[in-house]
Amino acid sequence: MSKMNPYEMFLKQVDEAAPFLNVEQEFIDILKEPKEVLEISIPLRLDDGSVKVVKGWRSHHNNALGPYKGGVRYHANVCKEEVMALSAWMSIKCATAMLPYGGGKGGIRIAPRELSTGELERMSRGFALGISRFMGTDIDIPAPDVYTTPQVMSWFLDTYEKVKGWSEPSCYTGKPLEIGGSLGRGDATARGGMYVLREALKDMGLFGKPLKATIQGYGNAGSFAHALYEEIGVTVVGASDSKGGTYNPKGLNYADLMKHKKTSGTVADYPGGDKVTTDEILQAPVDILIPAALEGVVNEGNAAKVKAKIVLELANGPTTPEADAILHEMGALVIPDVLANSGGVTVSCFEWIQGRTGDFWSEKTVHEKLDERLTQAFTEIWKIKKEHNIRMRQATYVRAMGRIISAMRFRGIWP
Ligand code: GLU
Repeated sequence: MSKMNPYEMFLKQVDEAAPFLNVEQEFIDILKEPKEVLEISIPLRLDDGSVKVVKGWRSHHNNALGPYKGGVRYHANVCKEEVMALSAWMSIKCATAMLPYGGGKGGIRIAPRELSTGELERMSRGFALGISRFMGTDIDIPAPDVYTTPQVMSWFLDTYEKVKGWSEPSCYTGKPLEIGGSLGRGDATARGGMYVLREALKDMGLFGKPLKATIQGYGNAGSFAHALYEEIGVTVVGASDSKGGTYNPKGLNYADLMKHKKTSGTVADYPGGDKVTTDEILQAPVDILIPAALEGVVNEGNAAKVKAKIVLELANGPTTPEADAILHEMGALVIPDVLANSGGVTVSCFEWIQGRTGDFWSEKTVHEKLDERLTQAFTEIWKIKKEHNIRMRQATYVRAMGRIISAMRFRGIWP
C-alpha cells in the first residue's frame, strides 16, 4: 500500500498536472479541498434486536460544472478521507467525460455481506434519510459503487421520495429499469473501458492482435469486462476476488466462471483454472492488467513486477502515485480511472436525462452515445499526452482541471 491515504494521492495527482496548466494558483488551491462533507451516524436495528451505530459520509468536492455526482460505497474500511478522495476523483471524471456535473461521493463503514437483507434495507434507508437534505436532482445525485446495487438504489429513492412527499426519479441513478433506470447502465463501466482501450490499442498498433488480460476484482465492473472484451480480441486468462484468484493461460470461460462465482461466492476455487493469489494475478505474463476493485492494489511494493504493458483502471485509485511513476519508467501505459471507468457515470447521466424528460432510449442509442463521448475524450487526452510528453493520467487531469477551472473563473469567487 502507498504511504499516502487516498486523499493525499489525489493531491499529488493535482500537483503533477498543475505545471502543464496555465492557471491561477488560487483555483488549484480551491480544487484541493472538498467544498463540504456531511458525516452521519445511523442507528441500525439488527435482526437480534440490538442496535449498531454505523458511520457514513457524503462528500461534495466541487460543483462548478453542475450538481455533485457520484456513487455510495459499502465497505468495512470506508473512512472520511477515502470518501473525500473518491468525490474529488468524480469531479475530474465528470469533467473528463464532459458531463454537466461536479464530483460527490458517499460511503458507509460496514461489511455488507455480514448483514441480512432486512438489515441492509434498514441501513440503506437510514443513510438515504440522513443525506436527504444534502442532495436532489439539481444538488447531488448518488449512484451505485462498491457493494451497492440497483436494489439499494431503489431503497434510497423510495426513502427520499417518502421523506420529501413527491416523485423525483432523477435524484438517484443506477436504478432498476422498472423505476426509471436506463438500458445499458449495468455494464456501462466495463463497456466505457472497452471503448477507451480499443482507441489506445489502435494508436499503439495493437488493435486486432490477440491479447491476454487478467482482472483483479471480479465484481460489477470486472465480470462485465470479462464478458465484453472478447469483442475486441482480449482473452481473459486470470481473475481474482477478495478470496483469491484463478488462472488458465488458455483463457477462462465467462459463462462458466460466472456460474461458479454465483454458487460458491468466489472465483478462487474455479475448476477451470489453477488456484492463484491476487499477487499472481497482478504479476501474470499478460498484455493488459485490469484492476477493478479497490484503491492501492498496484503500489510501490509490486509495481516493478507487473508484466502487462497496459493497465486499464476500472477501479477508482488502484495505482498509487509511486507505482504510476514506476510503471511509466518501465514503459507501461496506465489508462487512468477517471477516463477508463467513466462509462458508469456517463450512462448515469443518460439515465438522469431520461428521467427528467420522460424519454426512454434504446440500448443501441446508449451504446452509441457512450462510444462517441469516450472516443472524443480519449482523442483529446491522447493529443495532450503527446504534446507535453507526459503520462496519460497527467494529460487527463490537465484537460479536466482546465474545464473545471474555466467554469470557476466565469463564475468568479463569491461570496
Ligand atoms: N460509482 C461509479 C464511479 O465511481 C459511478 C458513479 C455514478 O454513476 O454517479 O464512477
